[in-house]
Amino acid sequence: MADTYWLEDDAPAWRSRPLDRSPDVAIVGAGITGCSCALTLARAGLAVRVYDARGVAEGASGRNGGFALRGGAMSYVHAREWLGAERAAAYWRWTERYLDRMAELGGDALQRVGSLRLAADDEERDELEVELQALREDDFAAEWRDRLPGRLGGRFPAAIFHPPDGAIQPARFVRRLAQASAEAGAEIRERERVDDLGSLDSAVVVVATDGYPSGLLGELEGLIIPTRGQMIATEPLSERLFACPHYGRHGFDYWQQTPDGRVLAGGFRDSALDSEFTADEATTPVIQSALEDFVADLVGRPVTVTHRWAGIFGLVPDLLPVVGRVPGHARVWVAGGYSGHGNVLGFACGDAVAQAILGDPDPLLRVFDPARLLQASSFDIPTETSA
Ligand SMILES: Cc1cc2nc3c(=O)[nH]c(=O)nc-3n(C[C@H](O)[C@H](O)[C@H](O)COP(=O)(O)OP(=O)(O)OC[C@H]3O[C@@H](n4cnc5c(N)ncnc54)[C@H](O)[C@@H]3O)c2cc1C
Repeated sequence: MADTYWLEDDAPAWRSRPLDRSPDVAIVGAGITGCSCALTLARAGLAVRVYDARGVAEGASGRNGGFALRGGAMSYVHAREWLGAERAAAYWRWTERYLDRMAELGGDALQRVGSLRLAADDEERDELEVELQALREDDFAAEWRDRLPGRLGGRFPAAIFHPPDGAIQPARFVRRLAQASAEAGAEIRERERVDDLGSLDSAVVVVATDGYPSGLLGELEGLIIPTRGQMIATEPLSERLFACPHYGRHGFDYWQQTPDGRVLAGGFRDSALDSEFTADEATTPVIQSALEDFVADLVGRPVTVTHRWAGIFGLVPDLLPVVGRVPGHARVWVAGGYSGHGNVLGFACGDAVAQAILGDPDPLLRVFDPARLLQASSFDIPTETSA
């Protein structure tokens, strides 16, 4: 059985050149965050070296659901309650701008086909109606759908269609970012784990490892909680059933159909919630068979599964990214903790941490300050995530 479908994509032929001096910035992690950060810094003329224990995009960035969604990991209603209406709107607009930039950079790795956020029952339908209202009040494009086609109709009472969203081939996108960074002068060292910050001779270090425990974050280590997500891919189906990424049950179930006709589905973490708080990148029979049954039901017949895989993402109890200096370590920065919503946020936060290092921090970084994780006295594990 094959592993992640996305990484089978042909990698572009690129090679990074070794730096001829010590790096100004060392980046640990060559996923979407690290590569986005590297691109911005290298284009600004800094000497950048990226390290990854594996290869480019071989962490969650090449193992995810392929949803490129605007906004944060929480619903827009919760964002307004928690951050205030003005900041929530600023946060959502900020991610929309980054989605536009991803479309400019990504070529055919990103299709702006929108996304469908489904209600699994009447209670969730009521929640989505409130969400739609909130989005419209702030002039965000969003459309109500209560006549869903085919087998979706009997199962989901309604949905919100989000026009700006997209379907991303995440490994292809990140490899293109890596290629662009290398062309801008960044050195990328694959299969080189960093075990000790003291071994890095750069003035600044960025830890961009999201849910994978790096051992480099001092007191913050473990506060971005490693969480496993599992996925399957079917063989190509002859019929086109899903025109865009679909997700429901507060993001616990998500699926899309790729251009070659496969259905890729993930989620069902809640069928074994406790065992999924782990950094062990293994699939389990309970979740894999739940996914397989779910897809068979969606499609209306048993399906042949060709790929099964797992990945690790970083969950943060307040569902906000963690971006900024690591408390107590003046030269060390972190960008991660996207709570299963890291395709657009990883790209955005990688750029934002780079801009902050260049002396131009975005005001939103005050909301993402890592120090808040050390101040909170008790956290509840949230149930609302995207992966
Ligand atoms: C199954 C699943 C489905 C998901 N679906 C979606 C989705 O549809 N949409 C969405 O927006 N988000 C989704 N996510 C979340 C998203 O994939 C991640 O948030 C995002 O990819 C994080 O990117 P990153 O670059 O920060 O980290 P990663 O891509 O995880 O990269 C971190 C890298 O750090 C490296 N590393 C760790 N420690 C060290 C060290 N000490 N030295 C050197 N290298 C090290 C690792 O090898 C790894 O390659 C999903 C996640 C999973 C697991």
